[in-house]
Amino acid sequence: ISKPKESNVDVLIVGAGPAGLMAAAWMAHCGINARIVDKRNAKIFTGQADGITCRTIEIFDSLGFADRVWKEALHLQEISMWNPNAEGVIHRSDRIPDTVIGVSRFQQCVLNQGRIERWFIDNIKKYSNDTISVERGVLPESLVIDESKVEDDDAYPVTVTLRTLTEEEATPVQAATASKSVVSDGLFRSNLMQEDDEADLLRKTQTRPGTEEIVHAKYVIGCDGARSWTRRALGLELEGEATDYIWGVMDIIPITDFPDIRNRCAVHSAENGSLMVIPRENRMVRLYIQLKEVVPDASGRADRSKITPDLIFRAAQKIIAPYKLDYEYCDWWTAYQIGQRIGNSFDVHNRVFLAGDAVHTHSPKAGQGMNVSMQDTFNLGWKVALVTKGICKRDILATYQSERRRIAQDLIEFDHKFSRLFLVGPAKDMMDAEGIDMEEFKRAFMRGNMFASGMQVDYGPSNLVVKAGDWCEQGDRSEKSAKLLTEAKISDEKFSKKQALATEIPVGKRLASFKVLSQADARPWHIQERLKADGRFRIVLFAGNILSAQQKARVDKFCAKLDAPESFLQRITPADKAIDSVIDILTIHSSPRRDTELLRDFPDILHPFDHHLGWDYTKVYADDVSYHEGFGDAYKNYGVDKERGCVVVVRPDQYVAYVGDIDDFEDLENYFEGCLRLPAVGVAQDISIVTETVSS
Ligand code: FAD
Repeated sequence: ISKPKESNVDVLIVGAGPAGLMAAAWMAHCGINARIVDKRNAKIFTGQADGITCRTIEIFDSLGFADRVWKEALHLQEISMWNPNAEGVIHRSDRIPDTVIGVSRFQQCVLNQGRIERWFIDNIKKYSNDTISVERGVLPESLVIDESKVEDDDAYPVTVTLRTLTEEEATPVQAATASKSVVSDGLFRSNLMQEDDEADLLRKTQTRPGTEEIVHAKYVIGCDGARSWTRRALGLELEGEATDYIWGVMDIIPITDFPDIRNRCAVHSAENGSLMVIPRENRMVRLYIQLKEVVPDASGRADRSKITPDLIFRAAQKIIAPYKLDYEYCDWWTAYQIGQRIGNSFDVHNRVFLAGDAVHTHSPKAGQGMNVSMQDTFNLGWKVALVTKGICKRDILATYQSERRRIAQDLIEFDHKFSRLFLVGPAKDMMDAEGIDMEEFKRAFMRGNMFASGMQVDYGPSNLVVKAGDWCEQGDRSEKSAKLLTEAKISDEKFSKKQALATEIPVGKRLASFKVLSQADARPWHIQERLKADGRFRIVLFAGNILSAQQKARVDKFCAKLDAPESFLQRITPADKAIDSVIDILTIHSSPRRDTELLRDFPDILHPFDHHLGWDYTKVYADDVSYHEGFGDAYKNYGVDKERGCVVVVRPDQYVAYVGDIDDFEDLENYFEGCLRLPAVGVAQDISIVTETVSS
C-alpha cells in the first residue's frame, strides 16, 4: 500500500456552502494559498435559502458581483399583512415597505442559494487566477491540532486527513426519494436552472475514489453546515433546543386569485395557522406554511417521513381560504422543525474556526441563515488572510468569536420573537391575552426588518475597533487575548470626543455610503464603491476646507507624518510594493471641486505617483454637487465638520475601526500599532504575498 500524499496549505476550508464560499472568496481576493473541499459532488441548484439582505448585497458589491444579483433577483418592495376580520375571514390589514427606507443603496432581494453559490464559484475562479476551486466529493476523516505549535506564526499545526469519495458516496440521499415524491429537493437539476450551472453537474475531482491525503494547514475553517463534522472533530457542541413547531416550505408557480401573491405577505388565519409568501424569480413563489397537524412525539421529534407536499399544500390552502390556491409546477419542497442553537465556542486555539450553520441554527423564515453565515466568514476571512500574510498580529483572530458570537445570539433571540409572532394566533378581542395584537405584530415586524437588514451590526471594542463600552463577548478566550482586548478599550469621555468628530459614522458599524465626486474627472461615486474587498485597510481622510490656509497646513502636517520613514504606513509597506498596497488612503474634501486642483492642493501621498502609471487619480473626492446625479452631501450626512474634517479608519470588511482628529496622528498610529505586525523603524517589511490593487 502506498503512503498517502502529504501537503501543506495555509488555509483549508471544509464545506462549500455560502459560508465556505465566502471564506474562499477572501482567500482568492487576498492571494492566499487555500483549498476548499466539500463532500457533495455538486453545488445545490434549487431550494434552501433565498433571501439576500441589503448588507449582503453591499458585500457582494465589494467582491464585484452585486450587479449579477441586482439583475437576476426579485426585488422585494412591499410587505402585506393579512389578518382575520371581525367575521374571521382574512383581509389585507396593512402594507409596509419591505426594506427600511434609507438604510442602504440596495434593497432586499430573493433568489435561490444555488445562483449565489454559482457567482461565488465564478468570482473565486477569477480572483484566484483559477488556483482555488471547490474540490468536490472529498471528505475529511481526521483532524489533529499540534498544541505545541499553535503559537508559532509559521507553523502548520493542524493536520487533516482527506478521502476522495466514490460517486455514490458523494451523492446525497434525496428527501424527495425518501418521501417517494416526484419533486426534487434542491440537489437535483431544476427545470428552471441556468445553463451556466451545468458544468457543476460534472464531478471535477480527478483523484481516484478512496485515495487519502494528509494536509497540514495553518488554519482550518469549518463551514460544513448544521451537522458539522469539524465541530464534532473539535469536541464542540451546539447549545439550545428544538422547538415544537413544524413548518413546510414549497417553491411553486402558484395558480391563484389571492391578490398579493407577488408581494411578501404575512398571513394569519383565524384558526388554521399562518403562512408567509415570498415572491421569487421566474414566476415562482415560496410559501412557508405552519403545519398544525404535525406534532412532535414524546422524544420531541416529528416524524418527517409522514410529511408530503400534499399535506403541506393542503395546510396552505386552508390558511389562505377563501382565496383559491393551486399549482402545477413545484420546484422544491422541504419541512423542518425549528432548532435554535448556538456553538459554545467558535474556535479552538484561533487555529480552527467554525462558521455559519456549523455554529448557529435557527428558523429560516427571517431569511437570515444564509446571510448571517456568509457574514460570519466575511468577518473572519480577511483576518485569517492578513495574519497568514504577516500583515496583522495573530491575536486579531480572537475578535472573530467576540464579534460574531454576539450576532448569533442576537439572531437566535430575534428568531425566537419573530417565530412566535407567526405561531401565536391573532387575538380574538381585547381580552384575549394568548393571541397576538396585530398592531404589535406590525411594530415588531418593522423592528425585525431593521435587524434583518444586517445594518444594526455594531462590533465591540478590540484591537480592531477603537471604542468605549463593554467587551461584548469574551467566551472562553485565553487570558492573553482578554487582557489585550481589555487594554484596547478607551474611556467613555475620550470616545465621545472622537465620535463627536463624525457623529453619523458610528465606530463598530459598517460605513454608510454617500455619493462624492472624483476630483479628477467629476464622476460621482458611492463611497462604498471605493471600499473593495481586497484585504486593505483604508484611511478615509475628511480633509475639510482645503482652500483655507489654516486647514491646508493641518492636512500637510498630517501627510508629512504619513510620509516619514518611521510612520506606520511606510513601515508596513514592503519596499518593492506601492504605498497603497496594505493601507489605502482616500480623501474627501469639502471645498468646491472646481476651485481646487488635485496636484496643487493635495500632498502627493494622497494621490501617489508611479513611474509607469503616473499620478493616481482615483483617491481624492469632493463633497460637491454632480452634473447629473444630485448632491450626496456627504459631510452633512456623515456628521463631519466641513472646515476641520477628521480621520476615519475602515477595516477591510467596511466596518469603522477608528475616528480621530487630523492633528492626533499619534492616536492613529496607536491603532495600527495595536493590530499590525509593524517592523521596527529601518527594518524592511517581510510580507510574502501582497494584495494587488483590484482595478475597478
Ligand atoms: P450549508 O449551506 O449547509 O453548507 C455546508 C456545506 O458543507 C455543504 O455544501 C455540505 O455538502 C458540506 N459538508 C457538510 N459536511 C461535510 C463534511 N463532513 N465534509 C465536507 N463537506 C461537508 N435558509 C433560509 O434563509 N431560508 C430557507 O428557506 C432555508 N431553507 C433551508 C432548507 C434546508 C433543507 C436546509 C438544509 C437549509 C435551509 N436554510 C434556509 C438555511 C440556509 O440554507 C443555511 O443557513 C445556509 O446554507 C448556511 O450556509 P452554510 O455555508 O453555513 O452551510
